[in-house]
Amino acid sequence: MPMPLANKLEILADAAKYDASCASSGAAPRRASPGGIGSTQRMGICHSYAPDGRCISLLKLLLTNACSFDCLYCVNRRSSNVPRARFRAEEVVRLTLAFYRRNCIEGLFLSSGILRGPDDTMAQMAQVARMLREQHGFRGYIHLKAVPGASADALAEAGQFADRLSINVELPTAAGLCRLAPEKDAASIHATMAAMRARIDASRAEPAVTRFAPAGQSTQMIIGADGTDDRTILAASSRLYDRFRLRRVYYTAFSPIPDASALLPLQAAPLLREHRLYQADWLLRFYGFATAEITENGNGMLDLDIDPKLAWALHHRGQFPVDVNRADRALLLRVPGLGKRTVERIIAMRRVRAVRLEDLQRLRVPLRTVRAFVLAAGASGVPRGLEDANLRAHLAPRPQQLQLFPSSR
Ligand code: SF4
Repeated sequence: MPMPLANKLEILADAAKYDASCASSGAAPRRASPGGIGSTQRMGICHSYAPDGRCISLLKLLLTNACSFDCLYCVNRRSSNVPRARFRAEEVVRLTLAFYRRNCIEGLFLSSGILRGPDDTMAQMAQVARMLREQHGFRGYIHLKAVPGASADALAEAGQFADRLSINVELPTAAGLCRLAPEKDAASIHATMAAMRARIDASRAEPAVTRFAPAGQSTQMIIGADGTDDRTILAASSRLYDRFRLRRVYYTAFSPIPDASALLPLQAAPLLREHRLYQADWLLRFYGFATAEITENGNGMLDLDIDPKLAWALHHRGQFPVDVNRADRALLLRVPGLGKRTVERIIAMRRVRAVRLEDLQRLRVPLRTVRAFVLAAGASGVPRGLEDANLRAHLAPRPQQLQLFPSSR
């Protein structure tokens, strides 16, 4: 007897939650109030960011969780003992339109296990996107997962209908990938990224002729599944950003899966590590930091207690205080607590008058942190505390009561 659609949805939305390359799942169930419109479902709705920065809700699904590969970190691997299901393309189309009409989602994130080879899998995902676009005039956001080893033609078809394509590098190093996912290989994943980059560039050069993933490409890296340190992870991300101009590298803290291989750790990687890597990634891309600067503390790991910009500033106190009325943009961006937008506001403000500490307060900067590192008009002398050996303890977030039970992800 065919499996009911609701059961497939339950299995294939749950199986998709491990892919973080479109951010996290888990909206609380909510129904529209009388006369209102829109509701949320527990299954498969995740939030992502559109190219214009808007936060959008996506229906996040696998086409199938059956897979011929045996990546050890993956709950859908060939040897995993989980219930399997498979959507037909029309079923994904129907679900997407139904959720869209009920105002639950603004788009679709579709990935898949690899069953009959990369091209067949890619073609099935592209077929969903094609049906949505051509048969139903769907103009919502579509993110498709590119399959390693897919041919140029298969990618071209997918990129024609998807806004974004992504292919997961899975692990930070080629050696790690070889150990935990022996059927994949880093060179082929990079070749697919390069092919997508070339097509994206070609389509931007001639938008009237070709359309190919206008929202670019991204990737995901699992952290803590092997012993790779944060310095190596960030260096790998840097190379990916440089070589393929990715929109994002997503980091996913490893979490143990049932019947796991002895090669995997028994414990989940701390979510705080994932958070620190995102902060460091931001520093690399938007704040002018180099990987070596952020991870210079000897063991190659980011400090979990304080954010990486504050850690860097505490190691380089000689570069502070920074005068907010004179320092150039690059230096202001290095001040802990000053974000990019705040720096632009400071620069705009000081064109007309001197910036005072009260102005920073009005800009809602965390003054407790910032004032240790800046000079501002009206503030007397060098800020107190820069020489203080306890400055780190003073600025570190206060310890929080540990939870008795770990929160669900
Ligand atoms: S190819 Fe993808 S779905 Fe298949 S086992 Fe590997 S990570 Fe999982």
